[in-house]
Amino acid sequence: MKSNKKVSWAEPYKMKMVELLKMTTRQQRVKAIKEAGYNTFLLKSEDVYIDLLTDSGTSAMSDRQWSGMFMGDEAYAGSRNYYNLERAIQKYYGYKYIIPTHQGRGAENILSKVLIKKGDIIPGNMYFTTTRLHQELAGGKFEDIIIDAAHDPENEFPFKGNVDISKLDALVKKHGAAKIPYVSIATNVNMAGGQPISMGNLKELRAYCKKHKIRIIHDMTRVAENAYFIQQREKGYEKKTIKEIVFEICSLTDGATMSAKKDALVNIGGFLAINEWDAFEKARNMVVVYEGLHTYGGLAGRDMEAIAIGIEESVDDHHQRARVGQVEYLGNKMMEFGIPIVKPIGGHGIFVNAKAFLPHLTQDEFPAQTLAAEIYVESGVRTMERGIVSAGRKPNGQNYYPKLELVRFTIPRRVYTQAHMDVIAESTAMVYERRNKIKGMKMVYEPQYLRFFQARFEKL
Ligand SMILES: *Cc1c(COP(=O)(O)O)cnc(C)c1O
Repeated sequence: MKSNKKVSWAEPYKMKMVELLKMTTRQQRVKAIKEAGYNTFLLKSEDVYIDLLTDSGTSAMSDRQWSGMFMGDEAYAGSRNYYNLERAIQKYYGYKYIIPTHQGRGAENILSKVLIKKGDIIPGNMYFTTTRLHQELAGGKFEDIIIDAAHDPENEFPFKGNVDISKLDALVKKHGAAKIPYVSIATNVNMAGGQPISMGNLKELRAYCKKHKIRIIHDMTRVAENAYFIQQREKGYEKKTIKEIVFEICSLTDGATMSAKKDALVNIGGFLAINEWDAFEKARNMVVVYEGLHTYGGLAGRDMEAIAIGIEESVDDHHQRARVGQVEYLGNKMMEFGIPIVKPIGGHGIFVNAKAFLPHLTQDEFPAQTLAAEIYVESGVRTMERGIVSAGRKPNGQNYYPKLELVRFTIPRRVYTQAHMDVIAESTAMVYERRNKIKGMKMVYEPQYLRFFQARFEKL
């Protein structure tokens, strides 16, 4: 069936197995969140009703993927599944050389070590936690070159993932292009709320980088969701398939790191891809130190098979329409209740603006962390903080103070129903009604790296 905008979207699949959920009482949830130090990452999954912590590794695999798992060739070297994965990446993304890794950050670690020298500058369209950390650990410094609109949750610009080329140009003028090993470009920028970069902007960036001999490295974790938005919003792309758009995006970049746990519909896995032989050779050598041999990189053969199949399913037009359609449904429902969310509605989740939701809290009282805990207590819905806690500290020890202070409701792919979306919006609305009575928190334990995962809090 051709997609027809007059008919509402529906899932292009049906269910044949379900996972039963434990229902909890409010009293049980109050106790559980206190024991978790008011950090939703420290809750036990069995105490959660609807889990929107992340869309990472939480997708439901298809029967095709599951049967692919049975075809795992668990040879140490040269597994059949490695070649299937390589073929899928070359076919759908067009990159030449690939190395599997246990997940996205494994690829980021290796790529950063291969390409970054001490003192280098890495401009990017907004930071991502693990990506920036690996750039810093390799001796580089991240510089944000995303357009200003991306930092404004009210701004409805359709391509808030775009790069401000004048910001990049200022960095090139200040440091010289030789200090910039690559520009780090995320598709459907996670930290901006799942916001796309336009093909037009990417082409302009490509022309600029070509002139200055700077690579573009693609954080392609959500490239198919970005392609969907290009198809829906960008002139000249209405008639193109997601497959074609994904391929074109990748063709404008020199290499990529991928967390296959998102777009590619698997529970674990990732890879690094690059078109340059020299960088590939170094990376291929390094992967044996950190991940495993270059034909498995920390994955079982069956995992590589599931990724190869997942890549193919992720670029299907009907799949993406239902995927993003469900997120839009939730976002519209939230807006009907007057809940302040980041606009336009993004691709992988709804981002509630905690600064606007709890305007009586200062950023040092962790508004987003507080709100995530309250939402859990209300209904057993698990969300996460994307604000000052996630932003962490600068290499000099000072806190980053991000403009955005958000609670992320991330929707796993092919997992929840529209009725679940209703419950999520209704229970958030109940917290919204009692927002004036909500008090902030203080951090009582802070780990050194990526503190949001393990930090603990107490109520003020
Ligand atoms: C998840 C993610 C990563 C890191 O991938 P992992 O598989 O979690 O290690 C990198 N970049 C972006 C944009 C992500 O969303």
